Amino acid sequence: MDVARIDALRARPVAPGSHIIDGAPRPASDGAVMDVVSPIDGQVLTTVPRGTADDAAAAVAAARAAFHDGRWSDLPPAARKAVLLRWADLIEANALELAVLGVRDNGTEIAMAMKAEPMSAAAAIRFYAEAIDKLYGEIAPTGPGNLGLVHREPVGVVGAIVPWNFPLMIGAWKLGPALAAGNTVVLKPAETASLTLLRIAELALEAGMPPGVLNVVTGEGAVVGAAIAESMDVDVLVFTGSGATGRRLLEASARSNLKRVYLELGGKSPNVVFADAPDLDEAAKVSAYGIFRNSGQVCVAGSRLLVERSIHDAFVEKLAAVARQMKVGDPLDPATGAGAVNSERQLAQNLQFVEEARAAGRRIALGGGRILEETGGYYMAPTIVAGVAPDDRLAREEVFGPVLAVIPFDTEEEATALANATDYGLAAAVWTADLSRAHRMVRRIKAGIVHVNTYGGSDLTVPLGGVKQSGNGHDKSLHAFDKYLDLKTAWFKL
Ligand code: ADP
Repeated sequence: MDVARIDALRARPVAPGSHIIDGAPRPASDGAVMDVVSPIDGQVLTTVPRGTADDAAAAVAAARAAFHDGRWSDLPPAARKAVLLRWADLIEANALELAVLGVRDNGTEIAMAMKAEPMSAAAAIRFYAEAIDKLYGEIAPTGPGNLGLVHREPVGVVGAIVPWNFPLMIGAWKLGPALAAGNTVVLKPAETASLTLLRIAELALEAGMPPGVLNVVTGEGAVVGAAIAESMDVDVLVFTGSGATGRRLLEASARSNLKRVYLELGGKSPNVVFADAPDLDEAAKVSAYGIFRNSGQVCVAGSRLLVERSIHDAFVEKLAAVARQMKVGDPLDPATGAGAVNSERQLAQNLQFVEEARAAGRRIALGGGRILEETGGYYMAPTIVAGVAPDDRLAREEVFGPVLAVIPFDTEEEATALANATDYGLAAAVWTADLSRAHRMVRRIKAGIVHVNTYGGSDLTVPLGGVKQSGNGHDKSLHAFDKYLDLKTAWFKL
């Protein structure tokens, strides 16, 4: 990575942001702004509009008008594809700028941010762009007197509310299929990660996306997000974030127009290591990365380590050794393995979990506290808590920080029961050389993805979605289109 260029970019002042509504930059209706605080040093980076309910309504109206007149939805799929491919190219051409801007905003280490943010956003937009002129409708197998056609039509106006951990990647997982399918979108970034999404909305216009097709409104979840959720004119609401907000969105849908709501709500994902894992050093390394990269702020993070008792102490020590080697600190240093925690509030929440565990007598095997406080930034040491009881809050609730809860087990049966002893069901992993056991565990663990002899890998070709209280609906893969396309039957009497 070009360190000199990164240093030049990090020193660049960041102009105050604006909403993008109907293809133009707009301030909040009352002119209010909110500070963007960089988690790198706790300093104010710039401001973005503190959006109002009126701003959200203006964006929804722009999206509705754009959908209604067909400026996007009536384009031949290949024409939408051409715009989206140009957009992906522009995102890629500006990848380092976007990555550095995003890191200054949200604190993710640059090595990960570069790959996971602009590069994977561009890849996701391309994937759906490439797919859209290859999706066919259906002819139903009716009798000779009838013809049944099944059309797939864009649903209309999509509201997308996204989080701060990977704003571009998660944003693109939603924008890619929603826009390729011909919908228009109102996007609401998280309070602490708006800047890159505003920037890619500008790039979309540059790529030739008509005004009003992609609108971005910044501001508080409880104001802008709630207004989108309550809108009578949003047809589909897609969301990644906390369970508490997810519940509010379902209520808002019920109170308003019964818009479809698709939720991705995080997890408390079990990473199950058997003594017969093919390579325990590899398992320790990948498991450490699986919880500590991006300071644990990853929805699929392997935050519950279940280890067979016979290898428990040795494995925890191996994992701790990997974590000790990980450089924690300045997220704009390409050698950094874990950057800053996104906000002061998140850091306080992480530390609270550790304090509770300490008070309950659990063993802090590594880390446990804030570090680098002198920088003014929000950094936390990779933390391993051993001897966690299955009923502890740390074993059940998502921390969304670099805190690993370790629980020993004796049998496969017990490991399965512990793995499933959670309200969540997003991700999991099983490390074993026993193929039959691996398949049994894949079947028995309730989760949207079960990794075998790895943690955290996947690509765009496979769906990501949760079961139980991790949510519904899937991002990624062709299945993601289902959220953004209605089925319509045409029935002919011949
Ligand atoms: P976290 O606690 O990790 O920040 P949230 O669920 O609060 O998770 O945030 C995820 C996204 O949801 C953000 O864009 C945030 O602004 C938005 N949000 C928060 N509260 C609400 C709400 N009441 N209604 C709609 N959106 C909300």
